Amino acid sequence: MKRFSVTIGVLLFCSFTTFGVRRERLIDAWRPVHYNISITLDDKLSEITSARADIEVLVLKRLSVIDFDFGDITTDSVSVNGKNVSFTHRNGKLDVTLPEDQSPGTRLTVSIAYHGKPRDGLILKADKDGKPSAVGDNWPDRVHHWIPSFDHPSAKATVTFHITAPDNNLVIANGRFENVTTANSTKTWTYNESVAIPPYCMIIGVGDFAKIDAPLRRQTPLSYWVSHSDSSYAIKGFAPASSVLQMFSEIVAPYPYEKLALIIGATQFGGMENSSAIVFSQTLFNARPNARVSATFDIPAGIESVIAHEIAHQWFGDSVTESTWADLWLSEGFATYFAALFIQKYDGQQVFDAYMKDAGEAAFKFEKKTLIPIHDHETDKLFDLLNANNYQKGAWVLHMLRSRLGDDVFFRGIKTYYEKHKEGTASTEDLREAFEAVSGKPLRSFFARWVYGSGHPQYQINWQWLPKQKKLKISANQTQSTDAFLDPVPIVITTSNGTITTTLNPSNRTYVQYVRSAQKPTQVEVDPDHTLLKEVTVRMN
Ligand SMILES: [Zn+2]
Repeated sequence: MKRFSVTIGVLLFCSFTTFGVRRERLIDAWRPVHYNISITLDDKLSEITSARADIEVLVLKRLSVIDFDFGDITTDSVSVNGKNVSFTHRNGKLDVTLPEDQSPGTRLTVSIAYHGKPRDGLILKADKDGKPSAVGDNWPDRVHHWIPSFDHPSAKATVTFHITAPDNNLVIANGRFENVTTANSTKTWTYNESVAIPPYCMIIGVGDFAKIDAPLRRQTPLSYWVSHSDSSYAIKGFAPASSVLQMFSEIVAPYPYEKLALIIGATQFGGMENSSAIVFSQTLFNARPNARVSATFDIPAGIESVIAHEIAHQWFGDSVTESTWADLWLSEGFATYFAALFIQKYDGQQVFDAYMKDAGEAAFKFEKKTLIPIHDHETDKLFDLLNANNYQKGAWVLHMLRSRLGDDVFFRGIKTYYEKHKEGTASTEDLREAFEAVSGKPLRSFFARWVYGSGHPQYQINWQWLPKQKKLKISANQTQSTDAFLDPVPIVITTSNGTITTTLNPSNRTYVQYVRSAQKPTQVEVDPDHTLLKEVTVRMN
């Protein structure tokens, strides 16, 4: 998802002091395979009057209880394969007692009937025009407030929604639209997502939407679901989406889902990447008088980048899902960098350079307060993981890999990684292995330093021309508090006789290299093409 930019300010004041290792719920004894969810909403869309979740579960270990995550709305009854069973529901857990011990490999259908007003996850509040609406907003683990579930990104499953609401509303949800039926001034809408998706991406959107089919729908059916007051701007405002779909389909793989709906509704984020049904903030199309405008699309650049970011997540985050929260950068770093790639193609190199420069500065600012690795096992509050490490520094890790391996190998690595892990989960090690396989280069130390280690290089470069030897002495000192970075550093030396391109290969925090140069340089530039995330000062001795 994309944070609102104000969040950055808030994050700076958060305490990241944590002790020990964050505990995550990982798949162990059972896993959900399919959710079949029927929800009936009241006239005002203010509560769930009745709901039923039929959850197909695969047993992985001999067990007698299935422990769902489930919020504090009321459970009415639970059955397993049609037989009523006993359950306990407290403190966010619904423990379902199985009629008998179940052995590994067994498939069960657990049916849970419930009702009430969810505390979170399904946001029941007026849309921008003051009309009732109900929109899911689940990141990171808030879906269990309205769907009994295994609320961890690794527990991916397919989902069918049957949503009943007053007939003046439209309903959107993940997956393919199946049908709509009418009865007693209500309509029941059925959508089926046949690709396994992470639970935080399972959503419905109910309200008095204006639904607009996008004029260009080359990759997948594309539609916009907005409040009526946003409907006149939607075609222009969402215009980049079709180009984003086309570009990422070409450089990664075909779009992974049955359709794409772009929705404006209740989300606490700038955008939330729910699979095939992205929700953008209600302020998306508000006037932004001082914003930079995208010359290509003639809309504020922030709208273009959030659209590209959320659509990139359909491949990275939704289809290839982070296997643990420590791997969140595989979702957010990718979305941040793929938005940059879109900007590079459509707005040019200068705009791309400015985007990456801002990203680097955000990472430096974050590190000043919080010096932790991207791969973070400690931060306890999941919302605190929405930080510049996972977004901007993660994007820079990809940019550095691209610079080091070259476009051809880099994009083959991306395709290899995606192909192997699509519709599943992946870890940082899976990404390293994919890039090693296509490049034939060892990358363990790169990942160790940039993803599992903290900080960034702060180079102090001093150069001195030695006229007798006709050599240039370049001293590279790294002044950061963390360990040395051994990345090659491109250097461009300008003399009256032309330019000399060379590479420093530091072996330690202090390092000296000599370069043959008949003339005294007029300028020494460090990494002029911005291939490294770094801070640098250059001085002549
Ligand atoms: Zn994101």
